[in-house]
Amino acid sequence: MSASPLYGCIEAGGTKFVLGVARDHETLLRTTRIPTTRPAETLDAALAFFNDASTEFGSFAAIGIASFGPVSLDRNAPDWGHITTTPKPGWSGTDLAGAIGRAFDCPVGFDTDVNAAILAESLWGAARGSDIAVYITVGTGIGGGALIAGCPIHGLRHPEMGHMLPRRHPEDLAFAGICPFHGDCLEGLASGAAIRARWGCSLSELASDHPAHAIIAYYLAQLAVALQALLSPQRIVVGGGVMATPGLIDCVRAEAVRLSGDYFGCRDIATLIVPTGLGDRSGLLGALALAQKALR
Ligand code: ZN
Repeated sequence: MSASPLYGCIEAGGTKFVLGVARDHETLLRTTRIPTTRPAETLDAALAFFNDASTEFGSFAAIGIASFGPVSLDRNAPDWGHITTTPKPGWSGTDLAGAIGRAFDCPVGFDTDVNAAILAESLWGAARGSDIAVYITVGTGIGGGALIAGCPIHGLRHPEMGHMLPRRHPEDLAFAGICPFHGDCLEGLASGAAIRARWGCSLSELASDHPAHAIIAYYLAQLAVALQALLSPQRIVVGGGVMATPGLIDCVRAEAVRLSGDYFGCRDIATLIVPTGLGDRSGLLGALALAQKALR
């Protein structure tokens, strides 16, 4: 029997939960995906997966949960480990960490999916060696997590980088934006859903000379510039479906250089704004990092 501890990993997303069992970041012993439906049904499916894995591999030393938000991260609050108020039907007030911790009687690490992702990227991926690093995902929505000296930022709640308010692109003034809270915040203008609302398809489906590419790069670059102004990160790791659009990261880098006026001490934009080193595993490995942290 192996001496190294066994960890359970949950990447809790709005459309699917990715579950994994691992002893270290290089070997996932077992993974699966389940659709995010109603909380009780989804949690039951997750518990069944981990019970089954536990029968085969032994008991869990700790379980990490990298969750969609908003979530409560205050360890001293009665609602720690809960999803708070989400527009996703039925999920407001769901006690994710409590349900998992009670079922397996082990420590539970809990954070936002994007905070977990930057933790994993700093340990094993594109942000190794950085004191201050940020992970941005641009997919259906936009989110960002940040790490300072190895610690994810929480504060009053947790960063909500997708909801910053950007300067409008002069060729994009007619679109009101789709954020239910802010209209034309970054997510309301530059998320995959906002792209679809404007142009009826994904960014990668639009011709490479379509103005959408420059417009979206302009908005995303403003987040990169704001991050330099606020946090002075050594790495801004970018992932998500929209960021996989060919050429987009280069457009964002070029716009970030232009908009920043070469002010923030960045010598090489290509080493500041970098693609994810862990690909679509950053969330699940983030959950592993949270589990390991919880055990320590
Ligand atoms: Zn918003």
